[in-house]
Amino acid sequence: MKHVSLLGSTGSIGRQTLDICARFPAELQVAALAGGSNVELLAAQALEFRPRLVAVADESKYAQLKELLGAAAADMEVLAGEAGVIACAEAAEADIVLGAISGVAGLKPVLAALQQGKDIALANKEVLVAGGQLVMPLAKEKNAALLPVDSEHSAIFQCLQGEVKPQKLWLTCSGGPFWEYPAEQLPHVTPEMALRHPNWSMGAKITIDSATLVNKGLEVIEAHWLFDMDYDDIEVLVHRQSIVHSLVSFADASVKAQLGLPDMRTPIQYALLYPNRPENALPKLDLTTTPPLTFVKPDTDRFPGLRLAYEAGRRGSGATVAFNAANEALVHAFLRKEISFGTITDGLSAVMSRDWPALAADLDTVVALDAEARELAARFTKGGKL
Ligand code: NAD
Ligand code: MG
Repeated sequence: MKHVSLLGSTGSIGRQTLDICARFPAELQVAALAGGSNVELLAAQALEFRPRLVAVADESKYAQLKELLGAAAADMEVLAGEAGVIACAEAAEADIVLGAISGVAGLKPVLAALQQGKDIALANKEVLVAGGQLVMPLAKEKNAALLPVDSEHSAIFQCLQGEVKPQKLWLTCSGGPFWEYPAEQLPHVTPEMALRHPNWSMGAKITIDSATLVNKGLEVIEAHWLFDMDYDDIEVLVHRQSIVHSLVSFADASVKAQLGLPDMRTPIQYALLYPNRPENALPKLDLTTTPPLTFVKPDTDRFPGLRLAYEAGRRGSGATVAFNAANEALVHAFLRKEISFGTITDGLSAVMSRDWPALAADLDTVVALDAEARELAARFTKGGKL
């Protein structure tokens, strides 16, 4: 039996994680649930899974959460704010913490869990983009496992079981909803259009990142940290069908890939029950009925976010903190309809044209650089320049 602390339980990954927990009641028990602000769903999840700890990040929702839990609140520790989320990450009985918060907000809770020596199943890629330089050494020091949940990284992790160091990693990319869109119309797409992803149903922030291809850029940086690979040895392939989840190649010219239907529950289950693979009754891939599988190079002229992410990665962690923070600020401004789609990558490019330190060596530096980049992005949002 593994005890799971789930951070970001009310989101897309959080809900799918609870689906897996419900399928394996003898293997997985929910010890703690933390959510952002959707207290109706958080309370319903807590009443179903009966964790010892429940936390809502938005402190103004605390009283409502308690009320919704009713008499059940007596058996639970009900918490609020960042401190509450961190308490869930540190829950004494938790063997594994699944990080499914969106954005850099997930970094402090993941570091807190690692300090306690917990294994981490990580969906929240921004944690590594902004904090890989802190997370990786701490996981090593505490002998904690870092199990990828992001489908591409889970695929690579699976391909590397029992293997030597690969020569190259190949991350696949759906291309997002606008891959075939005319370049001149791209700057004018609306949040509604961008939120319709062809193959995956996900939270709003990652869906916009998928449309700009910044998501793939964040994943290149994530892969750099998880698999200790140089940026020159991480490639991206646009694969519209999302069946091949990623590939690795070796010096002997051999290539391994991991395939499956696009369903995040598969990598979630693999991370939680690693190295076992029990039957889960999910729909299975039938290669005789799938459309032909295609692979092409990404177009970084039309989607400069991917190129900017590689450049940030090569510059170092100070630049990746800034890249991530500026992107979060610009995506949220786009979702609020304050800026156009094209302004997301224009703003990113402007913020990245500043000098950023090569290393963000501690959490205080990460927080300070993050704030500076958000401020610059906000200025760009208002005036169209820095
Ligand atoms: P989402 O927006 O659907 O869910 C985010 C969750 O985090 C929600 O429960 C929200 O309430 C919570 N949250 C937000 N801010 C918080 C805070 N400050 N403190 C505590 N909780 C907070 O997002 P998602 O699609 O589930 O993605 C979560 C993470 O997983 C992201 O980093 C994303 O890039 C990554 N990811 C998602 C998918 C996917 O298919 N959805 C696939 C791969 C990776
Ligand atoms: Mg992914």
